[in-house]
Amino acid sequence: MKISVGAASDIGRVRERNEDAYLVHEPLFAVADGMGGHRGGNVASLLAMETLGSFRMPEQGAATALVEDIKKANLRVMERGESDRDLRGMGTTITAVVAEDAKAHVAHVGDSRAYLFRDGNLLQLTEDHTLVQRMVREGKLTQEEAGHHPQRSILTRALGVEDGLDVDELTLDVHPGDRILLCTDGLTSMVDDRTILRILQEEPDPQSAADRLVEAANEAGGEDNITVVVMAFDEGDDGGTRDATVAVASAPLRAAESTGGTGDGASQPGASATAVVATPRPRPESTATGRVDREPQAPPSPRRRRRRWLLWTGLVVLLLIAAVIGTRLFADRQWYVGDSDGRVAVYNGIPTKVLGFRLSHVFETTDLSASQAERLQPWRSLGDGINAKSLPDARSIVAQIRADLTGASPGASG
Ligand code: MG
Repeated sequence: MKISVGAASDIGRVRERNEDAYLVHEPLFAVADGMGGHRGGNVASLLAMETLGSFRMPEQGAATALVEDIKKANLRVMERGESDRDLRGMGTTITAVVAEDAKAHVAHVGDSRAYLFRDGNLLQLTEDHTLVQRMVREGKLTQEEAGHHPQRSILTRALGVEDGLDVDELTLDVHPGDRILLCTDGLTSMVDDRTILRILQEEPDPQSAADRLVEAANEAGGEDNITVVVMAFDEGDDGGTRDATVAVASAPLRAAESTGGTGDGASQPGASATAVVATPRPRPESTATGRVDREPQAPPSPRRRRRRWLLWTGLVVLLLIAAVIGTRLFADRQWYVGDSDGRVAVYNGIPTKVLGFRLSHVFETTDLSASQAERLQPWRSLGDGINAKSLPDARSIVAQIRADLTGASPGASG
């Protein structure tokens, strides 16, 4: 069977990095969706692709060989995650196909998917290893609800988590005219199966189909990295394409190379990336290097802007709180004598308002008339508050006012 291939990977419209990877290395085709903070996701998906990149078609047992390679990749991701602090907890999905004559062996872990397009119909070949899919199987959610569930990306299986990895496998007979689509959840979480089907129907050329699928996911929001590989099976001698091995480096490969690599360079699929023959080349703007180079100049994503905004708001709020507490502590040690409802009173605080808030409160009132006191020269500013050094000081001012009023009031001498 003759196979022609189209592939595309895109960072999407929200993410700051492309942590997806794909491998087109006939007879093996794969996609991987890495996860794990910092650069972990990049490294995990790349390591998996790199491991599969050295797949050799055995005389027999291609499916078993593929599963063995995926298990090998699992161990490599685990070991790398354990030995490098920055990479702890990283993992990756993997969905891979090995084409052997008129058969396709599919192996799968995670929530990337393989679809079969045959006779105008689309059939999902893999089951998502996600919490919501498990709930669907158990009848706790409908497929419809699962598609919008906020926790739909929580995986129940991934490479890099534990060594006894369970790999789903499936072998199917392929017919001329069949197409197999491999994709990461950046496609399927953005566009539904109907849209995927329509694009595959409208675009017989695998590369055009791959490009349009990525485009559709971006138009729908592009909330995740999007990676697709489309294989078209046709009648004919496969000798031509088999010789012209196609190996396309994933976006993360370039990134990882520039950050120190993920292993020995010779075994990287990127090493043979020049042999892009027999399939239409990915458009320049969708190639790995272009994207990686572009990334640092890209404007901050909305999520990043929001994070930055939250950080600054948080800082301002903290400063305001500190200012309020500081002012309060200061004000609590201040005293003055002032007017409270026409009476001379001792205040604790500062005789002022900030943003409409008084910075003082009445500590004790007296029976002395404030207006009478204000008529006397020394106490004219009573209404504005007469500062005291302490509470006893404030009380002695009150005593002084009392004495003055007594002395000044007509008839008080008696
Ligand atoms: Mg994803």
